[in-house]
Amino acid sequence: MQIAFDNSYARLPGRFFAPLAPTPVRAPSLIKVNDGLARDLGLDPAALTTPDGIAMLAGNQVPDGAAPLAQAYAGHQFGGWVPQLGDGRAVLLGEVIDQTGIRRDIQLKGSGPTPFSRRGDGRAWLGPVLREYVVSEAMHALGIPTTRALAAVTTGEQVHRERVLPGAVLTRVASSHIRVGTFQFFAARGDEEALKALTDHVIARHYPEAETPLDLLSAVVAAQARLIAKWMGVGFIHGVMNTDNMSIAGETIDYGPCAFMDDYHPDTVFSSIDRMGRYAYRKQPEIAVWNLAQFATALLPIMGMAHKDAVEVATRVIEGFADLFGAAWEAEFTAKLGLAQTEEEDVALTYDLLMRMAKGQADFTRVFRALSGENPENARTEFSDPTLFDAWLPRWQARILTTGRVARMQAANPAFIPRNHRVEEAIAAAVDGDYAPFERLTAVLVHPFRDQPEHVELMAAPAPEEIVQATFCGT
Ligand code: AMP
Ligand code: MG
Repeated sequence: MQIAFDNSYARLPGRFFAPLAPTPVRAPSLIKVNDGLARDLGLDPAALTTPDGIAMLAGNQVPDGAAPLAQAYAGHQFGGWVPQLGDGRAVLLGEVIDQTGIRRDIQLKGSGPTPFSRRGDGRAWLGPVLREYVVSEAMHALGIPTTRALAAVTTGEQVHRERVLPGAVLTRVASSHIRVGTFQFFAARGDEEALKALTDHVIARHYPEAETPLDLLSAVVAAQARLIAKWMGVGFIHGVMNTDNMSIAGETIDYGPCAFMDDYHPDTVFSSIDRMGRYAYRKQPEIAVWNLAQFATALLPIMGMAHKDAVEVATRVIEGFADLFGAAWEAEFTAKLGLAQTEEEDVALTYDLLMRMAKGQADFTRVFRALSGENPENARTEFSDPTLFDAWLPRWQARILTTGRVARMQAANPAFIPRNHRVEEAIAAAVDGDYAPFERLTAVLVHPFRDQPEHVELMAAPAPEEIVQATFCGT
């Protein structure tokens, strides 16, 4: 494999990472290569499917020019401070400059133990690998910033979880894997030199217009406000918004217990370990603020101001999230409802619809897609009590812009999302050796905004017996 690596993270001081190669696996076998992404990265997709390519994707061969390493980071998990986390089951192979000039990480996830593995085995099983492949690629197709999936392979080894399961490795691509927790790692150690080096690295890499740590904070706050508004607009619940799972580049990262809502309810939680509902759908903006406050705290010592002044200016930036998020959320839902521009009464109209959807156990995706059609009154059948919708419809109809409405709204409201029961079905089939449901799901989700009548079952909400009640952290 010839890959033009240029590994800027590996050039940072040694305490940023542990250099180490992935641990080889017994019998790698290819599940899928993402051809389009490979080409975007300047890689030959066909070369990735050769034995050498597969050996690389499984961690059995380190390609020339790679500088494999596990990154150090810390983080707050469910609000509790953990001074050392780090890549416990992932290895960054290196970075490439993609066809548009953007630097991208190529990382293997499930690649074996590292100095950061703590009690874990460093491996992943097939389920979370396929989940991340399907959902991260769906997010990308939905126009939401995210890490990507370049490839998935099985290892020919068993992984011991609640039961014995097939092992797998995901090749993840990201603008970077730098997290809020990366800054926290050094801040907690009082390592200002490292904080400065990390800040310079991140500014050069992601926010070249920023000149100071405070500018960086503002840029990250803005990126996260836009990102979370987009999650809300598709009914996405991240599920584990720990500070180590918040990307400084503003991409969605870590697809452990994530899920898309079927029936709309703002309190929806899927993650089996989120018993308090800390990361419920409606809590996501406030949790983002909490995480960004941790980021700000980590930056305080290098802001070049007296502590009190630094706290004051950083607090103002964090407080700015509310307006940035509010504007992004309104823009999102204005587009979803086919309205001309956001007026105060439109926001009330949106909230009112959402409240009626919650009352009427209406499917989030299906309601907005039905509203986008030629006959928006069809949305009424999504409500357990259709009169909840009937009372709202004429108020909306009085507000919408009719020219080009259907095309505009269909471009804002997906027909297809990776529904939990379909993801679970694809995983269960794959464990039995049948990858057809996974292939179909990934193919359909490349065009989520397109009607695909031959795949109408994948648009359907789950039948009562198909509803997935809980998702599990993908370890
Ligand atoms: P996550 O819940 O995926 O955000 O992971 C939290 C931390 O646990 C990170 O430091 C991971 O690297 C680590 N971790 C998760 N699963 C494993 C595993 N199977 N082996 C080693 N470390 C793991
Ligand atoms: Mg994580």
